[in-house]
Amino acid sequence: MSGRDIKSLPLVALEGELVARGQPPFRARQVFTWLHRRDAASFDEMTDVAKDLRALLREHYVIVRLPVVNQLRSEDRACKLALQTDDGRQVECVLIPEARRLTLCVSTQIGCRFGCGFCRTGAMGFARNLTPGEIVEQLYAAQRTFPEQRITNVVLMGMGEPLDNFDHVVDAIRIWRSDYGANLSPRKITLSTVGLAPEIDRLGQTIEVSLAISLHAADDETRNKLMPINKKYPLAELMAACERYPLRHRRRLTFEYALVAGVNDSPEHARRLANLVKSLRPKINLIACNPFAGSGFAAPDEDTIRRFQQVLIEKNLTAIVRKSRGRDILAACGQLAVNRL
Ligand code: SF4
Repeated sequence: MSGRDIKSLPLVALEGELVARGQPPFRARQVFTWLHRRDAASFDEMTDVAKDLRALLREHYVIVRLPVVNQLRSEDRACKLALQTDDGRQVECVLIPEARRLTLCVSTQIGCRFGCGFCRTGAMGFARNLTPGEIVEQLYAAQRTFPEQRITNVVLMGMGEPLDNFDHVVDAIRIWRSDYGANLSPRKITLSTVGLAPEIDRLGQTIEVSLAISLHAADDETRNKLMPINKKYPLAELMAACERYPLRHRRRLTFEYALVAGVNDSPEHARRLANLVKSLRPKINLIACNPFAGSGFAAPDEDTIRRFQQVLIEKNLTAIVRKSRGRDILAACGQLAVNRL
């Protein structure tokens, strides 16, 4: 395929490029709306765009679309989609229907270099970053597949570490947030990170988005065992970055905590967690880990999870036990992996 991927361009960038080619700025808004709100598959569909501009677009740009090559529905109605990229790789995203919303979990990289012990994606290695176009297209491809219900929320929690693909992820968020695109509010987009402290600061200075931290342990020794990144950015550094993260409109940080039997699931671990995060007044999502074959980890039983939650509640923290969705189709947290890198 030749030509630049036009879907990767946030509105300001597209405007810059089209103005440089002698077009008025409103043309960029028209084209952007066709791409990101009206889901045009070709420039010829853009019927209210002048013919000479359509010809110019055809000459210099391509519209990236990721066809759905596989679809798996779980018993709990989560649905995993495998999308094919132009270079013959696959990206996975997961639709999660809930009572009042429909959330899409999107990927930001093919594979991942962070190797968290409980994560199947981490075990598959790293192939490449996704482009902004490939990130935003996951939303459009999923919506195309399920046109009957609007996708209301996006979480960047699929394959890859979003802050390891910083610029592309920020551009994708800009595109989704645009009034001329999906118009998603920062409240509806949540970026989840393993805790790249400097990039958390950079994110806060760059764009408004909800932030979730994959914490999974509240002391360095335990966290080092589960997440190698903790050796580079230990908890003190990570928590300092969380303290600095700008939260507007009374929003709160979220901490994700996957409980692993015998590793991080005791009442003492819960007390440590409470002490570590209490000054931030965050939301804490507890989830039983989804062990994969060869990981050496197991999920705790229900009672252990409830005891853990109770400790947090007694410390006046908001702690919610999340059901793991899509486990039977390997679509749950930490289970995404494709065989072809
Ligand atoms: Fe990578 Fe996230 Fe899996 Fe860790 S949990 S290995 S950061 S995909």
